[in-house]
Amino acid sequence: MRSDTDRKLRDFLGAKTAKTFADVLEIETVGELLRHYPRRYLKKGELTPFDELEVGDQATVNGRVKKVTVRSLDTKADIPLADVQKWARRKTLTKVVVTDGRRDLELAFFNQPWLATKLTPGTAALFWGEVTMFRDTMQLKGPGTEILESEDLTEAEIERRARPFRPLYPATAKLPTATIERSVKIVLDSLDERIDDPIPDLILRNEKLFGLREALQKVHLPDTEKDIEDAQKRFRFEEALVMQTILAQRRAVTDALNAVPRPRTPGGLLDDFDKRLPFELTEGQSEVGEEIFADLARPHPMHRLLQGEVGSGKTVVALRAMLSVVDNGGQAALLAPTEVLAVQHHKTLTKMLGDLAEQGMLGGAEHATKVALLTGSLNAAGRRTAMLDAASGAAGIVVGTHALLEDKVQFADLGLVVVDEQHRFGVEQRAALSAKSGDNTPHVLVMTATPIPRTVAMTVFGDLAVSTLTQLPAGRSPIQSSVVPAKEKPEWLQRAWTRVREEVGKGHQVYVVCPRIGDDVKNATDEEGEFAAGEEEQGGKKQQARPPISVMQVSEALAEILPDLRVEILHGRLPADEKDAVMSRFAAGDIDVLIATTVIEVGVDVPNASTMVIMDADRFGISQLHQLRGRVGRGKVQGLCLLVTDLWPGSKSYGRLDAVASTTDGFELSRIDLETRREGDVLGVAQSGRRSSLKLLSVLRDEDVILAARHVANSIVSVDADLAEYPVLGAAVRSALESETTEYLEKT
Ligand code: ADP
Ligand code: MG
Repeated sequence: MRSDTDRKLRDFLGAKTAKTFADVLEIETVGELLRHYPRRYLKKGELTPFDELEVGDQATVNGRVKKVTVRSLDTKADIPLADVQKWARRKTLTKVVVTDGRRDLELAFFNQPWLATKLTPGTAALFWGEVTMFRDTMQLKGPGTEILESEDLTEAEIERRARPFRPLYPATAKLPTATIERSVKIVLDSLDERIDDPIPDLILRNEKLFGLREALQKVHLPDTEKDIEDAQKRFRFEEALVMQTILAQRRAVTDALNAVPRPRTPGGLLDDFDKRLPFELTEGQSEVGEEIFADLARPHPMHRLLQGEVGSGKTVVALRAMLSVVDNGGQAALLAPTEVLAVQHHKTLTKMLGDLAEQGMLGGAEHATKVALLTGSLNAAGRRTAMLDAASGAAGIVVGTHALLEDKVQFADLGLVVVDEQHRFGVEQRAALSAKSGDNTPHVLVMTATPIPRTVAMTVFGDLAVSTLTQLPAGRSPIQSSVVPAKEKPEWLQRAWTRVREEVGKGHQVYVVCPRIGDDVKNATDEEGEFAAGEEEQGGKKQQARPPISVMQVSEALAEILPDLRVEILHGRLPADEKDAVMSRFAAGDIDVLIATTVIEVGVDVPNASTMVIMDADRFGISQLHQLRGRVGRGKVQGLCLLVTDLWPGSKSYGRLDAVASTTDGFELSRIDLETRREGDVLGVAQSGRRSSLKLLSVLRDEDVILAARHVANSIVSVDADLAEYPVLGAAVRSALESETTEYLEKT
């Protein structure tokens, strides 16, 4: 299908302009240009508030000149404004201060002294360029300029400037917003009255949306605020519809897959296990259990996400699901993100099951099963036994890392895969599973401690059912957290170490977490640390960040500060057996203080650990800090988390630490976290700044639009999964799937 919007730009614009569009913005067709929406609009006579500018932005501002100075870069002396023409060939710096009425912005022009005669005080003009920071002052360096009041203008120019709104486009110095505006106008004027619309007519009417032609006109050349709103509303809906159609199609495919139904059977392992549980299940645990049992009984694969705070008791829920499958003659695999965690899970499960896991052993219960551990660090014999147990079906439960899904590992009858502490379990991974189990795909339960807002779950995880554990098991007191500003108040850091000593004195144990290992120059990013905030501004200025504090540095320091305590280190580059040994000694209480990287982030369970000190806490993301501190206060002891930072109170990043210290509500923190990120990061998309299929839609703000579009997409796909009757929507879906930025959909 070929339409107007597929036509090449060079048929409409000059060859040179068309080439610039291709080179700078990768825009080659009419459709691509028209989908390059204005980022903002300038109401005539309105000045852009400068406080909305951010360093790094390609910004266009409307300002009034306040002051102009020209300086010679050779003599460092100011040049009288009357003389500037004489300096045309010399090195000069023209500084222009413009204002939006409240704040000033500095413009710096090199070697263009004549500008001083044009940009005289009082002149209103548009300026565009990159926002930079120079000695604490926000600047546009060498910006493009367009004086707004001027005599010698063409008629078209006068008409253009007389419009009530000026669109401001994402622009660059090579392709200023005014050029984009002119080009869009030319293209729009030559387009047909009707263009093919991905949104079906009936939907347009039902949802009261602009048709595509009208929306394009209004989004680029609006006459009123309402035009802008209505046009954007239409495009947001379209983006949501395309995305939800992709997800609805995907759900249809998943729903068509077969799975062996594993209905709950009384009188088996699960019932025995429930009877001997040393505690009552929380209400949430029971409810989620029932949801899972209902899913498992269906002849289609379950694909469910279980989210719950650290310590909310997800493991028990997973174990009950696994036992239910084993009761049905199937097997379950539990995948952990790291070997340390796989080992720990294996221990936990074995302990919880007691003689129910002692199949074939003296004293094993009647219908006991076997929990096998399969990791890369097993010796050949151990590995062979575990593989054999998986393949023969002797092991009802197999614990390992993702390597379990490798081809070599065979299962007798894999019925359920539980993925711990991860919320992404890719399409490919699921495909690998189906390949393993022939015509039947195993049920999948994914667990995460990172709460995911509803809209994100609906988009990024569109084909996932979501269960949430909201309570913590009874008797757990929420952890206390404080920020320790080590630079401002060094005595607080001293106090923190004293506190560590006191905790150990009370028989408790302590974690000290560092962002870096420190045995070489490389950052410890191999340990999934988030260094998002690493070089964040302080007092409005980017700081040359010193390297993050390392495990090695803290280890040296504590040898002096706490020489009498048993202090050891743990990080991802230790050999696996050494890691295990350290972890077991810590779990056994033979280590007082464990200095570690984020390897201890997920799943580690040492109830006797009461305190966590996080060094350079600002180097970690909000959600990550929340997860980390979930490692302490897991038993009856009161948990304490100290967030040590060199930041000064009052900076933005310090505020994030304050937020972590002031609430233990994971959903609230997750929301704060997501708000401070960009949309692309939310979707897990690399910020390439390239063409995006989501331009106006925000998965955080536009919940109602996404819900409405999801409803429409479901009804379309339920009767016409291939979109045969909706060729334009079909084309939009295909092009979205081709664009880089729907990669996030592929990963779920
Ligand atoms: P997470 O959700 O972080 O994986 P776990 O499953 O590791 O949490 O559970 C944390 C701790 O709480 C474990 O020691 C577990 O035995 C305990 N626990 C789980 N459910 C309950 C309950 N209903 N009552 C009391 N303790 C529980
Ligand atoms: Mg866990």
